[in-house]
Parts: sequence; structure tokens; C-alpha cells
Amino acid sequence: MRSIKLCACVSALALTCMPVNANDSGPKYVFYMIGDGMGTAQRQVAEYYHQEATGDKQARLVMNSMPVVGINTTHSADSLVTDSAASGTALATGVKTDNGMLGMTADGREARSILEGAQAKGMATGLITTTRLTHATPAAFVAKNQSRNNENEIADSYAISGVDFFAGGGYRHFVSGEGSKRKDSKDLIQQFRKQDYKTFVGVNSTSDFRSYQPEQGDRVFAAFTPSHLPYEIDRQHDNSTPSIAEITRKGIDLLSKDKDGFFLMVEGGRIDHASHANDLAGTIMDTIAFDQAVATAMEFYHRHPEDTLIVITGDHETGGMGMGFGKNYFMNLDKVALTRESVEDKLQGVYQGDRPAFYQHIARKFQLNRLEKDEKALIERAMDAVDGKDPEQIAHYGGYDPVSIAIAHITSKRAGVYWTSYAHTATQLPLSAIGQQAEKFAGFKDNTEVAKVFADVMNIRIGVRS
Ligand SMILES: [Zn+2]
Repeated sequence: MRSIKLCACVSALALTCMPVNANDSGPKYVFYMIGDGMGTAQRQVAEYYHQEATGDKQARLVMNSMPVVGINTTHSADSLVTDSAASGTALATGVKTDNGMLGMTADGREARSILEGAQAKGMATGLITTTRLTHATPAAFVAKNQSRNNENEIADSYAISGVDFFAGGGYRHFVSGEGSKRKDSKDLIQQFRKQDYKTFVGVNSTSDFRSYQPEQGDRVFAAFTPSHLPYEIDRQHDNSTPSIAEITRKGIDLLSKDKDGFFLMVEGGRIDHASHANDLAGTIMDTIAFDQAVATAMEFYHRHPEDTLIVITGDHETGGMGMGFGKNYFMNLDKVALTRESVEDKLQGVYQGDRPAFYQHIARKFQLNRLEKDEKALIERAMDAVDGKDPEQIAHYGGYDPVSIAIAHITSKRAGVYWTSYAHTATQLPLSAIGQQAEKFAGFKDNTEVAKVFADVMNIRIGVRS
């Protein structure tokens, strides 16, 4: 419970004795959960699908059931349409910067993040993502770099960051030798081990990670795949890497052993990737997987309701997802369940010139057995673009394999969903929150203000030193 105590007046001349809140040090346990590319449409379409799949028309996503709701703007310093580096920087440090830049202002002044403020306060810290660990959103909480593309430098900064729990994908920027993307011979995994981190590297470490029981004072570096973790729709088939909910549970197990509390950032990073590729089923499955991570945080909240704060938002919307299009008044999400693989990671490149084999493939993996005339024409046109290797034609498909995009558009259209973009959009985002001082996140705010509310609530300093 919050209580009010009065400050001691040290002098008769004391002007006004302001009440001091017992919670001045802020919530002991802080979750910052970011769905990359997760706008209103992504959250809503995932909820409608969830209702369809469970047969419960009242079912809600956990993140859509929170008592506090806000709306956020996302523009960067140099564009109304942000990228994940600028929006990550805004969400992490409260500072606007140009697209592509991390942890600094557009003119290069370094900014302190919420994670760093939490560390200074003695809290344990964690970064979880389904992308490469060195990708823009988690990087914005640690790195100060002119470019998000300098992922080896970002990895270097992690090795000296003191963050207690790292888990995601992208070991290629941390290992040396075969499979490394590094230009030097540094082995950052060894550097982590020298600092007594427990390390889990590669898909074969999944079972060790699953059975690992954290002890007080443990630190973890886990990267299960060379690049991003698999899309949830693909991961479900073999379960060979942990889900984002499993990773979140492990992170909570470890971090909650610190008596000073923790700050944990969890990113559902591939919602964005699926939406870039206009992959409806991929977007929905990754959004639901992220919501299960939110549910895991909520289980913790229910055990520590007075001391916990959970905030969920996105960094921008991706794909310009429209729910309903043209003059149609329908959505038909039961068909989404027929999709068996992701567009970007699995379907891309399947078509190599053998048209009958490709039609068999989509019958098997997308249940596209009977095609309408206009659907068939769309696929054939994309096949012609691939066969003709015509860069001008191929450019119409957002840099993706044209044939896989044709399938993405057919399955989306059958569900009543339309995409306006292969990139990010400038629409506002919903924010949800629960827990200690959650009400301060309500209302219409810029993404930089969200970070500033964290700083206020946690009583830490962030941003550029003035
Ligand atoms: Zn993106």
C-alpha cells in the first residue's frame, strides 16, 4: 500500500513541508514489454483470432485487459515514420534521434537509458528479445552508436554492460571463428564466461537452458540461433528453441533473486518482421506468443501486486495493416489457422521455376487447394517476375521473393486484411499498464514521454546530461 509520511522540518523557516511518498524509490519490479511493429491492428487482429481459435467471443489478450491505457506517437527527429533505432532510443532514453541512431541525440550526445538508471540504483537488469540481441530495440537500452548496423560494436558494449540476463538470438556477433560475423577474432562468449556468466549458445543449449535453475547472483548470456529466433509459427513445429514466454519466466526466476528488485525489457521483435512481409498468420502468432510473455509477467504481478509495474507498448506500426478493405464488410480469421509456415523464413525461395511443385507446396502448407482466377493470376505474374529476373518487376514486392508475397496477399485477402506498406507507418500506438503508479502512463503521450514517466516513477535519471 502507498503511505504518506511527512518530511521533518529542519528549520522554523522551512517554507512548505511537502508530503513525501513512501514509494519515492518506485516499484521494485519493473517490466517494459515492447512489441516491435505492434500497432492497434496487430493487437486487435491477434485478439479476434484468439477468440476464433478458443471459441470464446469474449476472450481478450492479456495485454488488452489492463486497467491503464494510453496512446503514443512515434515520429523520430528526422522523419514522421520512425525506424526501430530511433523509436527504441526514445522509449529507452526519452530522447528523440534520427532514424538509424542508437542511444544518442541526432547531434551525437550520448543519452542514458532506463536500464542504466536502474543499474545505478542497484537493480538487477535483463534484456530479452526474439530478434538478434544486437538488433535495434534491445540495443537502444545499452549501446551508444551512430548506426544500428554496427552490430559487432553493439555486442562489444553488451560484454561490458553488466546486464544480468541476456536472452534471444544472434550469436553470430559474439562468437569467433566459423559462423561469426565479426571482423576481428574477439570471442565475447569467453568474455562473458570470464565474468561468471552462464552461457547458452546455439540451439543445442535449449534443453540446458530449460532445465537450468538460477541461483542468487547468477548472470546469463543466452543466444540460441545465429540470427533471429524463429517465427513462432515455425518454432511451434519442433520447439527447438524456447518461446518468449519461457525465456521471460527464466529471466524473472533469475532477476527476482536480487533483493534490490529488477528492470526487465522484453521485446516481441518478430511481430515487425512478419508485418514487413505482410504475413498475417506470422504476425498473429508472434503477437499471441508475446502476449503469453505478458501473461508470465502478470503471474509475477499477482504474487507482488504492490511492488510491480508492467508497461506494454510498441515502437511503431508495421505494414499499414488494414482490417477490412475495399467495399467488403467481412473478416474471416478462421482461415489463418490453415497456414503452416512463415512467409519470410520458410516460403521465400521455395519457388525455383517448377510451377506444379510450388502449387503442391502451397496446397500443403497454406491449404490453398482451389484458387480463384484472380488469385492464380497474381501468383503467375509473380512467377513471371522471378523467371524473368526483371528487377523492375521484382521491386514491386518490397524486396521479398515475389511469389511468397503473392501468397501472403492471397491469404491476407481471404481473411479480409489488406496491407498498405512493406515498411513502418506513422500511426499512433496503444500502451497498456498495470501496477504501482501505472496510472501515470495513461493519456496521449509521445514515446519520449513514456521513457520520462518511467524515470519519474523509478526515481532515476535518464537522457542527456545537462
Ligand atoms: Zn521494422
